[in-house]
Amino acid sequence: MLEYPDAKTVARALKPDEPVILNRPHAARRAAKFFAEKFPGKVLYAVKANPAPDLIEVLWDSGVTHYDVASIAEVRLVRQTLPDATLCFMHPIKRRSAIAEAYHQHGVKTFSLDTVEELEKIVEACRNPETGEAASDLRLCVRLRVSSEYSELSLAAKFGCDLTEAPALLQQVRQHCDWLGICFHVGSQAMSPFAYVQALDRTRAAIAEASVVIDMIDVGGGFPSIYPGMEPPPLEDYFSIIHQHFYALPIAYNAELWCEPGRALCAEYSSMIVQVDKRRGNELYINDGAYGALYDAAHVAWRFPVTALEDDLRDGLEDFAFYGPTCDDADYMAGPFPLPGDIQAGDFIEIGMLGAYGAAMKTGFNGFGDAHCVVVTDEPMMSLFDGSRQREATDNVVNLR
Ligand SMILES: *Cc1c(COP(=O)(O)O)cnc(C)c1O
Repeated sequence: MLEYPDAKTVARALKPDEPVILNRPHAARRAAKFFAEKFPGKVLYAVKANPAPDLIEVLWDSGVTHYDVASIAEVRLVRQTLPDATLCFMHPIKRRSAIAEAYHQHGVKTFSLDTVEELEKIVEACRNPETGEAASDLRLCVRLRVSSEYSELSLAAKFGCDLTEAPALLQQVRQHCDWLGICFHVGSQAMSPFAYVQALDRTRAAIAEASVVIDMIDVGGGFPSIYPGMEPPPLEDYFSIIHQHFYALPIAYNAELWCEPGRALCAEYSSMIVQVDKRRGNELYINDGAYGALYDAAHVAWRFPVTALEDDLRDGLEDFAFYGPTCDDADYMAGPFPLPGDIQAGDFIEIGMLGAYGAAMKTGFNGFGDAHCVVVTDEPMMSLFDGSRQREATDNVVNLR
C-alpha cells in the first residue's frame, strides 16, 4: 500500500475520482497495545468490526492473539491470515457445517451458545467422524442476555438466554465440556462503565443459581471510541470497574477474564476522502454514503468528524448534511457536518473515525463502492489513545452503587 503523510497530500497527488480509504496502522497498533497492556485479562479482536487482513496483521503484531469470529468466512479469513491465532466462534447461532469445518479443519475449540439446541448441534458437529466419540476439548460459553441501556447501539434483543433459563443451560453445558464460560455483550459504544456492572451483576446471579464451576467470564465488546458529541470516560475506568466486579464473582480461582473489543481497536484505523459532486444549499452530494462507509451516519444518525481538504476556503464553518451517490433518498446523512461555508462541487473532504463498522460496510449497490486504500502517517482526527484523555484518579465519575 502506498504511504502518504496525510489526507491533503493524497487529495493533491491522486485527485481521486473514487473515495479513498486512508489507513493508519500506527493508530491500530497503539489501540491494541493499550488493550494488551491495560485490560486485566485476555483481549479478543471482534473481526466483524473490520476484517481487513492488513489490520488483522497489525493487531497480531501488537499482541492480539485471539479473534472473535462469527461466520465460517471470518474463520477462514483469519486462519488464512494468521495460522497460529486462536479463533473463538462467538455467534450463538451457527450452521452445523460451519461448526464442523471450524472444529475439524481450523482448530476452533471455543464456541458460544444460548440454547440447548445449539449445544446439541455443537456436540454432534464436533464428534470424531470415524469413531463417533464426543469431543473432549470443547470450550463452551453461554451467552447471557444483558441490558443495552448504556450503549448507543443495542445488542440486547437478538441473542442471549434470560436469567430464568441460564442456570439450567449452564448445568447442561457443563456436562459436555471441561471449560465453561459465560459471555455477554452490553451493546456497542457503551458510554458508561456501569454497563458492565449491571451485566456482571446478572452474571453473578446466574452463577449463584446454577452452582457450577465457571472457568471464564467474557465481558464482550462495547468499549467506546470517540466521535463528535460522544466523548466517553477514559477506558481505564472501564477496565478497573470490570476488574473489581470480576474478582467478586463466585468463580474458579484460576478463572480467566476476556473481552472482545471491535470498535475500540479499529475505529481510529481508517478515515476516508470523498469529493463533493454537487452543492444544494447546505446539502452536499458526495461520492460515498449509506451503502458505503457512512452506513451508521445514515442509519443511526452517527456523527463523524470532517475536514475540508482545500486551502482556498475562507468562510467560517456552517452545518451541512450529506447525500450519498446512489439514487435512493435514504442515502442521506443528516450530520450535522461542520465545513467551511464556501465549500463547493469538486472539493475534497476527509471524514474520520471510519475504521470500525465504516470501511467494512461498503457495498456495491447501484455501482458505487469502489475505493482504494492507502496508508497515511498522521494522527487520526480523534483519539482515545494519544495521551490527551488521561484523568486524575481522584476525578472518578463512576458511581459504584
Ligand atoms: C459485535 C460484537 C463484538 C464487538 O463489539 P464492539 O461494540 O465493536 O466492541 C464483540 N462480541 C460480539 C459477540 C459481537 O457480536
